[in-house]
Amino acid sequence: MDYSEIVEFHGHSCPGLAIGYRMSLAAMAALGVVRSGDEELVAVVENDACGVDALQYVSGCTFGKGNLLFRDFGKNVYTLYSRRSGKGVRVVFHGRGLPNGLREDKPAFIRFLQECRDDAILSVTATDAPPPAPARIRNSVSCQICQESVMDSRLREIAGKTVCMPCAERQVQV
Ligand SMILES: [Zn+2]
Ligand SMILES: [Zn+2]
Repeated sequence: MDYSEIVEFHGHSCPGLAIGYRMSLAAMAALGVVRSGDEELVAVVENDACGVDALQYVSGCTFGKGNLLFRDFGKNVYTLYSRRSGKGVRVVFHGRGLPNGLREDKPAFIRFLQECRDDAILSVTATDAPPPAPARIRNSVSCQICQESVMDSRLREIAGKTVCMPCAERQVQV
């Protein structure tokens, strides 16, 4: 999978995307896996920036399929698991091998990110933690205020009514 395909999916080329692309390729190679059609791969990302689009495209772990989980830690870390092998790999962008001043020259920075060795920018380590639980199909119930359908795990009880979260918030405000 070529970087230009990732750029087309994301909409532009940027250092964050180039970093995410390298992180994704490194994770896939370390696990010895191919793109996930279903849920055999699951990814946990610790930020929601540009690079995550590369991960979605490269790994097939997507928000919609439920095999992409976002933990809002503000760290440039992806953990990729294979349910088939039970193995997991944690990829951290450290950028220790970046030449000084390179970040200021965006095209040169992106070029470097495509050509450098993995260990100049990344660390890749196996993780013993088990993969997150598979995505579950939840039942839907109608909110008793707006009548819109709501996933049952997101319902709130308020004044004896079973309601959606936005309706619950509005009840509290009045
Ligand atoms: Zn971007
Ligand atoms: Zn509602």
